Amino acid sequence: MTGRSRFTSELDTAAIAVREAAHLCMDVLREMQLKPVRKRDSSPVTVADYGSQALICDTLSRLFPNDPVVAEESAEELFSNGHDSVMDGILTHVNAYRPHAGADDVARWIDVGSHGDPARRYWTVDPVDGTKGFLRGSQFAVALALVEDGAPVVGVLACPRLQIHDKCGILATAVRGQGTFIEPLFETGVPTALRVRGTDNPADSRYCESVEGSHSSHDDAARVATDLGITNPPIRMDSQAKYAVVCGGQADIYMRLPSGRRFVENVWDHAAGSLLVEEAGGRVSDCRGSVLDFGQGRRLTANRGVIATNGRLHDDVLHALSRLA
Ligand code: AMP
Ligand code: MG
Repeated sequence: MTGRSRFTSELDTAAIAVREAAHLCMDVLREMQLKPVRKRDSSPVTVADYGSQALICDTLSRLFPNDPVVAEESAEELFSNGHDSVMDGILTHVNAYRPHAGADDVARWIDVGSHGDPARRYWTVDPVDGTKGFLRGSQFAVALALVEDGAPVVGVLACPRLQIHDKCGILATAVRGQGTFIEPLFETGVPTALRVRGTDNPADSRYCESVEGSHSSHDDAARVATDLGITNPPIRMDSQAKYAVVCGGQADIYMRLPSGRRFVENVWDHAAGSLLVEEAGGRVSDCRGSVLDFGQGRRLTANRGVIATNGRLHDDVLHALSRLA
């Protein structure tokens, strides 16, 4: 197999699965079935999260039956929390794409994503990344990545509300060694290559971070920015759309600095986005400069926080962080 054709069927399948899931999310938004329920950790989850995961896991398990899948949601959580009525809403939306599916099928597909142990090759799915953004009318994403030997090799990210260049609603794709591309999510269009912005002057740069101060310390990021002479205000955005804006040059730095609580990042929150940035010419590490290790299981237990940059500014950010420490 030549370098160019590696992962072609994985990429094609991932793009189809993510597009379909993004359409389901937009169906849910149009029908206003947005009433979220709370998970055990009190974070919100909606019909769209479960429906999106069911469709993606069904597709993966049919086309790549031997690949484990690590996904955010679980049917066990759905039922144990007494949210059985949510299943009616999920089924309504899934049936638009899988007319013959019943509740048992949907529960089984959701649980395809419950793999936990480290695996040499696995898929990871965030069916609605940035559920809070989804609910508040701002950014969210559907994210899917294939990981081999601890590193993402295929990444697909749908951002239905994100504008990059002249496209509003984008699908971003990357295969390791083959670059990052975007195409319109809701129309057909030719994929175009994405490259990070090449600035090496921190003072001229822009940074982005989570909307949620509990997910990423805004104060520490502001200290790093001051140290680097960055005067532009931060771009605050939910979901892995932040990685996409670094790829598109609207931001040059994404800082995810641990906030007070000890939190270990989830693989599904970073696998697709980090590959997109690397293949667009940027660099991704944790706060200490270590490469993200996706080979530990469901979480990035070997890492702390995340920094994604255009590459040229990466060491500047790491040095500023070490001065902060
Ligand atoms: P964002 O939209 O960038 O804030 O990221 C959303 C993701 O943050 C969710 O999918 C959660 O998995 C993750 N998350 C939840 N709690 C934390 C936390 N304390 N620190 C970092 N990430 C978190
Ligand atoms: Mg997420």
